Parts: sequence; structure tokens; C-alpha cells
Amino acid sequence: MKELSRDEDRTRVSKRGNNRKKILMDLAEKEGTPIFVVDHEKIRKNYLEFKERLPNVQIYYAVKANSNPEIVRTLFKMGCSFDVASMPEFMIVHENIKDMPDKERQDWIWDKIIYANTIKPIETLIALDKYNPLVTFDNNEELKKIKKYAPHAGLVLRVQVPNTGSVVELSSKFGANPGEAADLIVIAFDMGLIVEGLSFHVGSQCTNFENYIQALQLSVNIIREVETRTGRKIEILDIGGGFPVKYHPQVKSFKTLAVKLNKEINRLFNNDMQILAEPGRFLIANACTLVAKVIGKSYRDGKPCYYINDGVYHTYSGQVFDHCTYPVLSFKGGETEISAVFGPTCDAFDTITLSAELPMLEINDLVYSENIGAYSHASSTYFNGFPPAKVVHINE
Ligand SMILES: *Cc1c(COP(=O)(O)O)cnc(C)c1O
Repeated sequence: MKELSRDEDRTRVSKRGNNRKKILMDLAEKEGTPIFVVDHEKIRKNYLEFKERLPNVQIYYAVKANSNPEIVRTLFKMGCSFDVASMPEFMIVHENIKDMPDKERQDWIWDKIIYANTIKPIETLIALDKYNPLVTFDNNEELKKIKKYAPHAGLVLRVQVPNTGSVVELSSKFGANPGEAADLIVIAFDMGLIVEGLSFHVGSQCTNFENYIQALQLSVNIIREVETRTGRKIEILDIGGGFPVKYHPQVKSFKTLAVKLNKEINRLFNNDMQILAEPGRFLIANACTLVAKVIGKSYRDGKPCYYINDGVYHTYSGQVFDHCTYPVLSFKGGETEISAVFGPTCDAFDTITLSAELPMLEINDLVYSENIGAYSHASSTYFNGFPPAKVVHINE
């Protein structure tokens, strides 16, 4: 292939950008707004990147990041397994994959689903029991419930690990204290339950890669202690989620993390240890774009204010629950001004930004936000009667 000069390369990139914008605008015209556009080509690309950089890790997509059934089906076709957080999520996966051929099934993973919420209602355990799933736990009371209501489950102990520097912290709510972890596993074995593995989660959007290294070290110590005390083997290590997305150029790359992880996993574990990961954000965040419409406009203290038909109670909910910000972008060019962008509900909290750089927009103009696939549409509400954005799939 001919080498492109830098200028040619730039033109090509901007052409691709313009094509993408045209596709989004055409979809908005056809489907109405707001639309949440899911690009399945990007999902497949993310999956393949993860697989390529961590070849010995089986991927369990964390469905809670975005539980759209079409996303589950696309990932399943790639050979993906699933991490679910509730019985309805379990059923979304089960219903969508049960009739699909599973050509890439890896025989060292006996199940396609891990139920990775350490706290399970009794009704859920009863419903789960007939599927013999993998389930996580992190305390004694949960063990008693599992023994009584889902004694056939394969157990995975979730251990608490450092979450320093992760954008969304999880260690205050989940994970057994590392000092008690081996005891808990021994107790489970003594109760006649089957403990298959150990899991951790370093916190979501983890940018401090040392968290993973410390977690791996901590895990190997617990596994060795259990094996020495019981003579039984722990076969699964589940390294959880947290794999960071490049929302900003400053975020260190997944590639760097993968190199570190491979090195440390190879150093600490034999080949027969089955390594699982539960990426959510990494697989879906950059695959989705929101397109919304300006439905109102005013000037407040001299500042242009735009009211659009999606907001913080809807697709922008990640700004509240996920500590994320999604820049609001315009399809139009032109000189920009600092502007406010509000959602459609009757609540001042429904403020997407007070400082967007936007050109002069008019009623019915379209705006969009990129990288909005994770923890966004999934936590959208019906507040004020406005339903979640319509989901539109491309490159399925
Ligand atoms: C939320 C969650 C994940 C996914 O985390 P990401 O940071 O989106 O990769 C994985 N495992 C568990 C147990 C979770 O709670």
C-alpha cells in the first residue's frame, strides 16, 4: 500500500469523520430523536483487541454496562461469556444465547455465565439452582443461603483488593477481607460446597495499574494457603473488570496494562489456572453514540442555553452514577461560544453541562455525544414521562 503523506492522512481521517456524522444525521432523520446508536463493528473490534492482548483470558462481558440483547448476541457469536448481576440479566443472556450455535466454546470453561453479584436474594438462588451456575460470594451468611437454596452452584470467593485511583470504587461494598478469605473458603468446603475460584474487582475505569498487580499477588497467596490447608485445587482466577477506556488522551492505554498483566500472570500461575475477566466498559463504551435534538433555547445571564431531548435522567445518567462527562458536540461548524446544555425534565439537576463549546444552534438542530455506551442507557429512567432513547443498531 502507498504511504500516505501526513496531510493526505489527515484528510482521510476527517473524511471518515464526515461520513460518520452523515450516517448519524441520516439515522436521526429516519428514526427520530433521541437515538442511542450501537455500532456492532466497534464491539467486535474491542472484543478482538481484548482477546489478542490477553490471549489466555476468557472474557465474561459484564452485562450491567449495557444489557441490550443485540449486544449480548453479537458478543456471544464472537465466543464471549457473560457476567450477570441479577436474575433478569441472567435471563436476558440465557434467552438470547440458548438457541445459538456455540462454535467457539472453550471446553475448559464449563459455563457461559457467572453470577457475579455477591449478594443474591433467596428467590434468585432457588431460580439459579437448576442451572448449576458459577456464583460469587464474600461472607458467611451468603454461604448459608447458598447451601440451603443453590447447593449445586460452583462458588467463587470475591476478595477485597485496593481500588486506589479507580474512577468508580467498589471495595467498600464488596469483597471478603483478604485476612479472612482462606478461612471462608475452608468453611465453604467444610459445608460440602464446591469452591472453584477466587475473584476480585480493582474498581471501574482503573487507571492505576498497580491495583491489578497487588490484587494478583494477594490472590496467589490466598490460593496457596487454601491448597496447603485443604489439599484441594482452586482452578479459576477471575480478574474482574475495570479495564480503562480512553475517554481522554491522558488515560494510559489498555495495551500497557495487558503487557503488565500477562507478565504477572505468567510469573505467578501455572498454565492450568483458568483466568477469567469481566470487562464491561471496555467492550461497549466507545461503541455507542447518542444523537439528540435542540428543543428549546434561551439566554440566561447572556449565556446561550440549549434544552435538548435527552439528559441526566436518561442517556447522560452516567454523569451521576458513573462519574463520567460526555462532551456535547455539534454537527455544525462555526465560531463557538461557551454554552449551557440542559436535559428536558423539570429539574435543574438535569444539567448536562454549563460550559460546552458550541456554535450558535437553533431549534431542531442535532447534537451528539460519543463514547457513551457504558453505564448510560442502562440506567436511564422514565422521569417526567420521557422514555429512554431509542436504540438503533448499525453494522450488526
Ligand atoms: C461492574 C462490574 C464489572 C464490570 O466493570 P467494568 O469496570 O465496566 O469493566 C465486572 N465485574 C463485576 C463484579 C462488576 O460489578
